[in-house]
Amino acid sequence: MYTSIVLVKQVPDTSNISGQVMKEDGTVNRSKLPAVFNFEDRVALELALQIRDRFGGTITAVTMGPPRASDVLRECLYMGADSAYLITDRKFAGADTLATSYVLCEAIKRIGIYDFVFAGRQAIDGDTAQVGPQTAEKLDIPQVTYTEAILDVRDRTARVRRKIEGGYEILETTLPVLLTVLKDAAIPRPFSAKRVMAFKGAKSLLELEKMVEGNSLLYIDKLVHEYRGRSLFIPTLTADDLEIDVGRCGIRGSPTKVHKVESVVLAGSSPAKIENTTAGISSMIDSLLADKILG
Ligand SMILES: Cc1cc2nc3c(=O)[nH]c(=O)nc-3n(C[C@H](O)[C@H](O)[C@H](O)COP(=O)(O)OP(=O)(O)OC[C@H]3O[C@@H](n4cnc5c(N)ncnc54)[C@H](O)[C@@H]3O)c2cc1C
Repeated sequence: MYTSIVLVKQVPDTSNISGQVMKEDGTVNRSKLPAVFNFEDRVALELALQIRDRFGGTITAVTMGPPRASDVLRECLYMGADSAYLITDRKFAGADTLATSYVLCEAIKRIGIYDFVFAGRQAIDGDTAQVGPQTAEKLDIPQVTYTEAILDVRDRTARVRRKIEGGYEILETTLPVLLTVLKDAAIPRPFSAKRVMAFKGAKSLLELEKMVEGNSLLYIDKLVHEYRGRSLFIPTLTADDLEIDVGRCGIRGSPTKVHKVESVVLAGSSPAKIENTTAGISSMIDSLLADKILG
């Protein structure tokens, strides 16, 4: 039996960017953008599910994000995760990867025992691929990035194939280990209709508090107790719950500031006729070098 934690991120649908993407303070205007489940995190969850299929165990999905990020946690439950945690607090807003990995590390320590931490190789918005390795460093556990496949797991070791330039390498690692997963590592299984019916009513503490707002007949403790009893409660951890250094969180804990984000549209210019001669081809290469398309 192996226990896995899967780090999943709700990301702006960058294939659908319009309007004001960035706020004055250089952070992403997430409320303005349609949000989707970062694809490589779905593949990471699929690898965790395959480990559970082969060896048994449990899977917990974790996301740090605004309250609406509980949407990706419900999708994790639909795919087969056993439980999910929402790590949310205004103090976490505007976090760069250093601040993000600090909070995720503290949340993982709070959640407790784990043999595997799975993350996507990269999130499609920040595109840094830094959070996985940074989180492993802070947890002081081995990490294998660019994971293509988990070949075998025996007792406290795992054999993993990872992509490298021009090929792959097979590594043996002790557990616990953090793996960052490539999008081609597996095909995420579809949501099970039975699980969608079972978990579409799952709610985070913030969502339950919203239900109670203005409804004197509802009491939050009773509601949490009821949802917990039906395995529909998504625990929510704030900075106070995690008892962490808020100076290392959010925009305060972020040495990196995103200066500007703009959509770059690559427009084709008028086609140029290239003489099929040595001179013709070398002048084409010269102009490609000059335009920094080559070299
Ligand atoms: C355009 C843009 C550029 C940016 N550039 C930088 C930069 O250069 N340096 C920098 O430090 N920050 C940068 N940021 C901020 C960065 O996006 C955030 O820090 C973000 O929370 C994590 O970085 P990432 O998106 O690159 O994730 P990555 O490091 O690419 O994510 C890798 C994996 O980590 C896990 N993960 C990441 N974030 C979360 C989360 N919130 N909850 C759960 N799991 C998660 C997921 O499994 C994900 O697949 C940038 C943001 C934007 C929008």
